[in-house]
Amino acid sequence: MTLRLPAGLLAFALLAGCASVPVPTATVPADDNLNAVAWSQTAIEHDLIYLQTYRDAQSQLLTALNDPQWDALASSDRVAPLAQLPPAVVLDIDETVLDNSPYAARLVRSGKEYDEASWQAWCREESARALPGAVAFTKFAASHGIAVIYISNRSRELDQVTLANLRKVGLPVSGPDAFLGLGTVVAGCTQVGSDKSCRRQQVSRHYRVLMQLGDQLGDFADFPTDRAARPQAMARYLPWIGTRWFVLPNATYGAWESALFHDQWSAPRQQRRRQKIEALRY
Ligand SMILES: [Mg+2]
Repeated sequence: MTLRLPAGLLAFALLAGCASVPVPTATVPADDNLNAVAWSQTAIEHDLIYLQTYRDAQSQLLTALNDPQWDALASSDRVAPLAQLPPAVVLDIDETVLDNSPYAARLVRSGKEYDEASWQAWCREESARALPGAVAFTKFAASHGIAVIYISNRSRELDQVTLANLRKVGLPVSGPDAFLGLGTVVAGCTQVGSDKSCRRQQVSRHYRVLMQLGDQLGDFADFPTDRAARPQAMARYLPWIGTRWFVLPNATYGAWESALFHDQWSAPRQQRRRQKIEALRY
């Protein structure tokens, strides 16, 4: 097969001596998320951090299992006593066990921003891959009689496609109750926004939680979103990092980003961009 290439590209291909031929693509507008998405998809360091974190958690899991006082819920979420409760691990889903970077890549390519319709369309494809180490860790937990519970801010209308995606990649799903999505109704507890406290409290009534894993501080307990307040609120839990709570990296989105423009997503993109630049240290 012969390809007709513009003279410039042909010269580049010859000079580079490369076997593959560069394919001209439509101009993709500059996007502040390009590096973060490229890193998460292509840097082996990204995969190694996930593997390292899950291996670290797994290496301590049986110690936690064998200590009847071991619990990874903050006291505000521990609403039922530990005694005799069966063990569980609690995991977030997106960017914790499932890799949604293709969705982020599509946003970069199209120049668009997150919206619920396109997000749900991506979720309904059920094609997210498992992140490195997640399947081995959760299977290890399940094989030792430890329930695997997913608390996610995916809406409950996505529960079937989410469970299907989890199963496709080999993540253990014991049943529908293993997934506590955004609209989960918890008796006697009013969910505020996407806060996961009510769902953690529900888990606390049925399980002793050995570990929590997530890519957002809100996956672990109810923390302030204000950037300046977070370190102090987190300080008392620092001994739990790497023992009861395992934090995974997400440079592409999260509360860390919206905190830079005070959660004003309705503000023009350029204004939010300016606030992010102003938040940097120089
Ligand atoms: Mg997440």
